[in-house]
Amino acid sequence: MVVSADAITVELNGQAMLFEHNPLLKDGTTLIPLRSLLESLSANVKWEESTRTITVSRWNRTVRLGLEQELAYVQDKGQLPRQIKLSVPPQLIGEVTYVPLRFLSESFGAAVAWDVREQKVVVRTKSPIDAKAWEYRIIAGVTDQTAEAFGGLAEVKQKIVKQMDAVNQRYREKGFEGSPHFKIQSEDIYHFQGDGRKEALNKRHPQHEFIIIYDAFPDGGGGWYGGEAQSIYHAWPTGDFGSLFESAATDGLVHEFAHAIGNALDLYALNVDAGRNPISGEGYKAERSIMEYPYGETIWDNHTIATINKAGGYPVQEEERFLAEQFPDRMEIVTLDRDDRPLPHVMIRLYPVPWYSNEVLKEPIWSGWTNNEGVWQLEYNPFEPFFKGAPWGIRYANFLVEREFADGSKRYEWMPVDQVQLHRYRHPNQPYRLTVR
Ligand SMILES: [Zn+2]
Repeated sequence: MVVSADAITVELNGQAMLFEHNPLLKDGTTLIPLRSLLESLSANVKWEESTRTITVSRWNRTVRLGLEQELAYVQDKGQLPRQIKLSVPPQLIGEVTYVPLRFLSESFGAAVAWDVREQKVVVRTKSPIDAKAWEYRIIAGVTDQTAEAFGGLAEVKQKIVKQMDAVNQRYREKGFEGSPHFKIQSEDIYHFQGDGRKEALNKRHPQHEFIIIYDAFPDGGGGWYGGEAQSIYHAWPTGDFGSLFESAATDGLVHEFAHAIGNALDLYALNVDAGRNPISGEGYKAERSIMEYPYGETIWDNHTIATINKAGGYPVQEEERFLAEQFPDRMEIVTLDRDDRPLPHVMIRLYPVPWYSNEVLKEPIWSGWTNNEGVWQLEYNPFEPFFKGAPWGIRYANFLVEREFADGSKRYEWMPVDQVQLHRYRHPNQPYRLTVR
C-alpha cells in the first residue's frame, strides 16, 4: 500500500526539504523522489534505460539499484560489491522515480532518524572536509543543589567546560577513524530544580546530540540512558572518589560517552568471578579498557574502537540492532590435540554467562559433537542476537566452552562476545573459529 505522506516532513541538516512531488510512505518505508535526494547528498546519478538501473556514485562508493528490484549493490572502490536486500524497492510512480530514503542516505554516510513526535524524517550529512570531525553537540543541566554546592551556576559552567576539555583529550589519537569532539557552550548549560534522574530520562534536546545532567546529590547511580533520552546522568556524590568535577568523575564521563557515540559494550559485564564458576572454577577478566574499568585508565580495547568507528561520528540509531548485527556468519569450535591434530567425536558444551551476572550458569544451553575434522559447526548463534530487551540486543555476554573426552577428562576455553565480534570486524567474510587444545 502506498500513501501520500503529506504529513511527513523531511529535514536535511536542520532545514525542511521542499519537494516538487511529495514523499510517500510504503510499508513503513519513506520513499522520496530520486532527484531531490541526490541533489541534497550531492551525488552523481546515471539512469540506464535498457536495464532500468539507477547508478548513484559519490567519492569511492557506487550504489546500483534496479526499478522494482529488491536487491541493491553497494560497491566501494577496489572491493567486491555487497548485495543488500531492500524492504521496498525503487519504483516509478507517475513520471517520478521514488527511492528508499534511509537506504540511500545511509549508503552515502548521512544519518537518518525518525522523529516520532514531530512526524518528520531527520537527515544529517557532513561535508567532505569535516567528514572525520566527529562533533557532538552537548547540552547540560545542573540541579540547583549542585550549582549551589559548587559556587553558583557561573562557576559550574567553567568547571563543566574544563571537564569536557579533559574528556576530549581522552578521545584523541586512539585509533579512531575520526576525531570525536564533544562541544559544549556556556549558553547551553542550564540549571533546574528537581530530580536529576527524571531530567536525564525525560528532557528532550533536538538541537543537540546528547544531554548531560550533573547531580552531586543523587538518590542512586547514574550512567548512560539510550533510546529517546540520549543522555548521561552524571550522578556523583562527593566522597572517596572525589567530587563531580575531579578526575575519577571525568574518567566515568569518558566511559559513558563511549556508550553514547558508539553503543560500546560494558566489558566488565563479561567478567566471571572464579567463585561463581561452578563448572571449571576459573575466573574471566575482559580486555583492559576504559570500558572494563575507567578510573585512571587511558586505554581503549579493540572492540570498542571498532564499534565507535562503525558508528562513524553519528549517534547510533536502532541501538538494539547495532551490535546484534555484528556477528560472523558462521561459528565453529575446533578441537585439537597437543600436536595440533584434529580431535573427532569430542563432546562440546556451552555454558552461558548472562550480562553483569559475573557468573557461569550450571546448565549448558547447548552441546554437540565434533566431526571427523575435529570441528563442531554451530547451527545457530548461541549469543542469541536480537533477543528482545537484552542489553545491546544480545542475550548472553560470554560462554565457557567445555570439551569432554571419552575418559571423562575436560578442558575449557572462554568465548566472550567482544572477541567473536572483533573477529567479524577484522575478517568480515571468514567464519569464527574457537580452538580448544
Ligand atoms: Zn558502562
